This record gives sequence, C-alpha cells and structure tokens, in this order.
Amino acid sequence: MITTVVGSYPVVFKEKLSFKEKILDIFGLYDKYKYAIEIAVKDQISAGINIISDGQVRGDMINIFTKNMYGFDENRVISKVEFMKPITLKDILYAKNIAKKINPNVEIKGIITGPCTLASSVRVESFYTDNKDENLIFDIAKALRKEVEAIKNYVSYIQIDEPILSTGFIDFDIARKAIDIITKDINKEFAMHVCGNVYNIAEELYKFNVDILYHEFASNKKNLEILETIPKKIGFGCVNTKSRKVESVDEIKEVINSGLEILKNNPNFNKSKLYIDPDCGMRLLSRDIAYNKLKNMVLAAKSI
Ligand SMILES: [Zn+2]
Repeated sequence: MITTVVGSYPVVFKEKLSFKEKILDIFGLYDKYKYAIEIAVKDQISAGINIISDGQVRGDMINIFTKNMYGFDENRVISKVEFMKPITLKDILYAKNIAKKINPNVEIKGIITGPCTLASSVRVESFYTDNKDENLIFDIAKALRKEVEAIKNYVSYIQIDEPILSTGFIDFDIARKAIDIITKDINKEFAMHVCGNVYNIAEELYKFNVDILYHEFASNKKNLEILETIPKKIGFGCVNTKSRKVESVDEIKEVINSGLEILKNNPNFNKSKLYIDPDCGMRLLSRDIAYNKLKNMVLAAKSI
C-alpha cells in the first residue's frame, strides 16, 4: 500500500546559525524556512513515506496563497484576485532535490488550498460582494490553475485542499465549477482533501472532477461508511492528527483493517486504489509526535 501525507509538517528552525547564515540574516537574506523544508523532507523519508510533501512550512494553508496573489492585503480582499507568480514551485524543487539524494524512489505531491476554502477564509472588503461571491471563487480558481500549470511537471499528482466543503457553507455546484476551472484538460491526476464529517455529503463529493478523495477515518468513524460506495481512489486517513497521542502500530492497523473490511463490498475498489495517510496536516503537532505517528503508520501499512 502506498503511504503519503496530507501536507503540513511541524515547522522547525535551525537553532545555531553558521557565521555565513548570521551575516545573511542581518541583511534579511537568510531563508529560515529552507531548513524547515529539509527537516520535513528528511523526516517523512526516514519514516518511510512513499509520496511526501514539502511540509508546507511557510505559513498556514490560507496565507501561503493569499500573500502571493494579486487582490489580497494579508487576508483581506482589496481588488480583483489574479495570479502573481508561482507560489509553491521553488519549495517543491528544493524538497525534490533533497529527497533525490536520500531516496530517488520517493515522489512528491503538489498541494494547493482550494478556491472555496480560500474564499471563505478571507475578509471581502472590495470588488466582490462577500465570501460566497462566485466571481471571487472563480477568480481564485483561475489563479490556482496557473499555479497548477507551474508545478504539474514536477509532482506525481496535485492535491486540492477543500476542508470548507464539509461545513455546508458552500454551494456544491459552484464548488464543482471552481474545481473544473483548475483541473480541466490538465493531464495530471488530481486529489481533493476534505476533512471533517463527509458522511452526509459523500454523494456530492463523488461528482467532483478529481481522481482521489482524501478523508479522515481515524478521528471520524462515521466516515468509514462511505467506503462501501466511493467510486474513486481513496486517501485513507488512519492517524488522528488532532490528538497528541502517538497511536501504536496495532491501533493504526485496526483502523486500516476496519476500512478494508468495508471496502470488500465496494465493486470499484482494489488495493492499488488505496493511499494510506494521516487524517489531516500535522503542522500543529510537535516534530517528535508527528514523526512517530508517520513511522507507526508506515509500519502498520507494511504489516497488512
Ligand atoms: Zn484536513
């Protein structure tokens, strides 16, 4: 079974800078996040993850994107939203380069925050009416499509994070149109991560133009029921990222097995369609806890 992550990893800064780094730092030229990416990549590979991320260390999932697009001032919308420059490309290439030296078989995924989640998380002050304005959502989607075009040749697939969809705040037809703007005619696999309770909206999610659906199953047992009908590849969240307790290998195995048991009844399913991953991003955990959760998850997946 393929193992992967949802995206974010605890951000670790270097404690003692070298002389050269100190000088660079004085002139504002030292990029402290490069070390954080290095740690995220090395830890994921050492834990045995097959498809890693760059750790998404440069900020939360909203401001990584808003601060690099036209139309935003911090998290306020002040004018028409447009693509400015590739946002995640540099970090993907840096992460890939580190990974290649340790294990050339490790792949990396591209991750973007979805247009509905971005639109819902900002303060709309100008140009658009409110957070649900479809012009805002579609303009963000158009900008994200350019980001996808910039990174697509360097990643194994692209994941769109749309946690807002489980809240019922967004109209699904608008959300699907927005995802279509991003994915249409782009020759790449797409995944969508929606955490939270998706049991009641599963049928809506199946209609999205993506190949893989990533959901949480460790902290949300009700979600397991969708496995009987899900028609796509599955990102199976089997480690609780909200809890600081490191689950044992046996505990994680139990979650995976309970999923496999239900998947037996799904005619669309075979094991090559299963990606084993944590429920959500790991940014808020300590490095030690995040690493051990990943390590135990890989051991559990391997033992099945
Ligand atoms: Zn999530």
